[in-house]
Amino acid sequence: MSFLAKNYNRKNISFKYGKGSYLFSTNGKKYLDFVQGIAVNSLGHAHPKLVKTIRDQSKKLWHVSNAFQIPEGEKLAKKLCQKTFADYVMFQNSGAEATEAAIKAARRYFYSIGKPKKNRILCIRNSFHGRTLAAIFASGSKKMTQGFGPKVPGFDHFVFGNHISLKKKITKNTAAIMVEPIMGEGGIRVIPDFCLRELRKLCNQKKILLILDEVQCGISRSGEFFAFEKSKIFADIVPIAKGLAGGFPIGAVLMNKKVAAGMTPGTHGSTFGGNPLAMAVGNTVMDIVSNKKFLNNVKKSSKYFFSKLNKLKEKYPSIIKEIRGRGLLIGIQLQTDQTKFIKKLMDNKLLTIRAAENVVRILPPLNVKIKEIDSALKIIDKVCSEIK
Ligand SMILES: *Cc1c(COP(=O)(O)O)cnc(C)c1O
Repeated sequence: MSFLAKNYNRKNISFKYGKGSYLFSTNGKKYLDFVQGIAVNSLGHAHPKLVKTIRDQSKKLWHVSNAFQIPEGEKLAKKLCQKTFADYVMFQNSGAEATEAAIKAARRYFYSIGKPKKNRILCIRNSFHGRTLAAIFASGSKKMTQGFGPKVPGFDHFVFGNHISLKKKITKNTAAIMVEPIMGEGGIRVIPDFCLRELRKLCNQKKILLILDEVQCGISRSGEFFAFEKSKIFADIVPIAKGLAGGFPIGAVLMNKKVAAGMTPGTHGSTFGGNPLAMAVGNTVMDIVSNKKFLNNVKKSSKYFFSKLNKLKEKYPSIIKEIRGRGLLIGIQLQTDQTKFIKKLMDNKLLTIRAAENVVRILPPLNVKIKEIDSALKIIDKVCSEIK
């Protein structure tokens, strides 16, 4: 009998340890882990440099209050700002906290310039920004919000890809548009670069802020440090989390100078956010994944994986509808429900996870080896041939 609440639909499997791309189950089986904690373990399991960082830092200092200076956090914030558009960073512990803090920063900006009524956030219907009360209503998904009323006000929604619906929904009270450059949970749907550029233009015209939720697609997952970089635009606010500390809980909001000016002392806080242990791990991950050579390697693995997956799509057109995504954020969209397919992959020792729109989501570690990709492809090919 389990004393854990039943809010997850858990697979009947548990793991004893992990190493790189592999997980070893408590009943002695070896799995190729292409979930990696849902894009969290960016360097795979038990990366020696992360193990060393945790070991060293845990002997020195785990946690102090944000009432004091935290040099490890200063260091990580500096790295993030030097690498990106950002001028300032606020550390959190998770993605939902980061998206909430992003919303707070947007509202606070308009408040601080004397426009407190400009406070509504425009999001994509059925997007995903986390599971807190505000975040579920930001996502605008019926499934996620059912039974959790009263509705948290302040969010409007437009339909993905529908530019008319988008423009119609912007009012004089809109503070910001918040979207994921690549919708993760939403089915690995990529917002095309020209749309991101149009979105930026629209925000400039209307004098509203652009929040790009890079919680899943950020931190080199897409083959660029941020997925939106390819479109050559700048964001005003970017929440990040998942891959930033390779498996240690962390979150952050990146802001430009204009927005950050509203976040004066006392306006936001977090007890755990930015503690030395999390920051130490974040620094080590950042040093590795923001490196140009590392990013080139992600691109190389991605190119290989996509070309082979597209070949499988040609081989099994009645099963695979589309290969989606960028970098190592990959979706195999099936013609029908993906549940059985994912189960069969797991039976063949490949772990993957679902996303919306019949998508099998594939999230290898960013340092995945080509021969591991080959193993995965072999299993996917086998399952396609058996399901046929
Ligand atoms: C996972 C995710 C979140 C929420 O992160 P949590 O750490 O689960 O709170 C928010 N936005 C996006 C795009 C995500 O993928």
